[in-house]
Amino acid sequence: MIDKEKKQAYHKEWCERNKDKVAIIRKRSYEKNKEERLRKNREYYYKNKESVLNQHQDTKEERKAYMKKWREENKAYRKEYQKEYNIKNKEQKKKYREENREATRKIEQKRLDEWRSFFPAEIHCEMCNKRLYFNGKNCNTSMYLDHRTGNDAPIKYKPSNWLRGHKRTPETEKIFTECNFGILCNNCNSFLPTNERSEFLKNAIRYHKIIFKEWQEHVEENNNDTIVDNVDSADSISSK
Ligand SMILES: [Zn+2]
Repeated sequence: MIDKEKKQAYHKEWCERNKDKVAIIRKRSYEKNKEERLRKNREYYYKNKESVLNQHQDTKEERKAYMKKWREENKAYRKEYQKEYNIKNKEQKKKYREENREATRKIEQKRLDEWRSFFPAEIHCEMCNKRLYFNGKNCNTSMYLDHRTGNDAPIKYKPSNWLRGHKRTPETEKIFTECNFGILCNNCNSFLPTNERSEFLKNAIRYHKIIFKEWQEHVEENNNDTIVDNVDSADSISSK
């Protein structure tokens, strides 16, 4: 017994003398048992959620600070928990999305069918005159709505999506007509930029004139039959 008291007294004295060492040991032990302690805290928290929350609900600021600290300390746990939760709910989400997607697709198709008669029965590309189809399955023969007047049209982004999303009514027809969309094929549409189109076309024509002039000079020099044929086809392109 005396030995025990002696030991305790010595220990106390040693701790007093070696405060720095004690701090290091305590810190090590704290780090070592951190996970385990946090786990126990979490368990306690979920078992006694109500009382714990009340305990920390003295003021709004205190509560906020507590939650912030809790989130910081449980970052890894929260991440893990979210991961598990996501996996658990993945199937359910997928199923829900698929059901929803099917319903949405049906509504969109119904709206497109309503809009079909708004366009001429026979649609042609306004640039190359290719025969096109409304809501066609093949992108080479589908019609594309072009922002002819730039981005100041009331329908800014993807007119075909707008048609899918809007019931055909006199009001929506008016909005659509105001946009003055051009009808183009996939090919012509992809060559024409919406922004600064006039600038682009001016540059394109200037470029074409230079090339064409060089080409003509080249032909005149060679005076070759096959090249003359090519010039004819180049001429027909330029006249379009
Ligand atoms: Zn075209």
